[in-house]
Amino acid sequence: MHDIAANRFAVRTAGMEASEIRALFAVASRPEVVSLAGGMPNLAALPLAALSQQVAQLVAEDGLTALQYASAHGLPPLREQICAVMALEGVTARPEEVVVTVGSQMGIDLLTRLLCDPGDVVMAEGPSYVGALGSFAAYQAQVVHVPMDGHGLVPEGLRAALRRARAAGQRVKMLYTIPNFHNPAGVTLAVERRTEILEICRAHGVLVVEDNPYGLLGFDGATYPALRSTDPDNVVYLGSFSKTFASGLRVGWVLAPDEVREKLVLAMESATLCPPTLNQMIVSRYLAAHDWQGQIAVFREIYRERRDAMLDALERYLPPECTWTVPDGGFYVWVTVPEGVDTRAMLPRAVAAGVAYASGSGFYTDKSGGRQMRLSYCYPTPERIREGVRRLAGVVEAERGP
Ligand code: PMP
Repeated sequence: MHDIAANRFAVRTAGMEASEIRALFAVASRPEVVSLAGGMPNLAALPLAALSQQVAQLVAEDGLTALQYASAHGLPPLREQICAVMALEGVTARPEEVVVTVGSQMGIDLLTRLLCDPGDVVMAEGPSYVGALGSFAAYQAQVVHVPMDGHGLVPEGLRAALRRARAAGQRVKMLYTIPNFHNPAGVTLAVERRTEILEICRAHGVLVVEDNPYGLLGFDGATYPALRSTDPDNVVYLGSFSKTFASGLRVGWVLAPDEVREKLVLAMESATLCPPTLNQMIVSRYLAAHDWQGQIAVFREIYRERRDAMLDALERYLPPECTWTVPDGGFYVWVTVPEGVDTRAMLPRAVAAGVAYASGSGFYTDKSGGRQMRLSYCYPTPERIREGVRRLAGVVEAERGP
């Protein structure tokens, strides 16, 4: 009996742990706590009345298609519209090159399943997106963090990490990177570095996985050219409607070189048969009937105002030894606290003081990041953000001691 229980789960599940962020959701959602922890987009600005009418109309007019199975590749009209979205980032794509996924999270997960055997190396920025780290762990891939600075991933750091991996006889399967408005670091990869990073990866035979859910949320409205626009044969692009439309619909996409894409469609089939038809049709109608770019401009303004509120409050309240990144898009600021303060240990005291954040260690596989934390400004109002940072500053002060 005992042995059966001990052997119940596959060996690969050993790396599957509840993310610290998920554990936080319960406490952080108490109304008295200002949550700077989650990355939930602010959907209040969506035209809900018009959307609900459209969904009702969709089911009335086209319900037999909308409620039916469809292709694992994604609906052709939506794939065509996704090509128009990609053009904003300088990518020329054909609809057959697009695979629709259940959020970009599924793209990350399936790509890891396709590319990584246990022990294979994934290079990723340090820090990196917690959901991607979860997928890498689930397939027993080994993450090597590559340093970043205020201009994103450091090319020399990548070169050195690849040299070390080669010397150690490791197989490096991909560079997973978030070039724009990084989660959690809040920085953007400098345009001058982009070609260099692509060249390094190409020279080492390492596929680049470019995860870009925030790319259209730059505060000055400018859009950076996607890495895929420069090297489509060696870059897999992950896109999402979660941050520019509605995260709950779970509609994302992947653009990949042919051989990767063909396997990805097979993986989609075995994972979910097909992405949800109704949700794809909702997105497709939304793109066709709404000024979706105007809506993104509205979102940008909301987030810019909140970013400003957070930066002002950080400047005003945090102890002078603290430093932070200044994002020019996206949802996040990455804060470094004074020596001696451990953001993970501090978290329960912060929650007791009425503020929550995501401690830095969750964004590394080696649990470094003890002096960092991610603050999200996407969801609370500017007033709540100011109040949250004020409370947080008090906790950091107390933690630092006299
Ligand atoms: N990648 C990054 C960098 C993210 O921040 C997120 C969401 N927080 C995702 C992927 C997952 O997005 P989706 O909702 O499309 O699955």
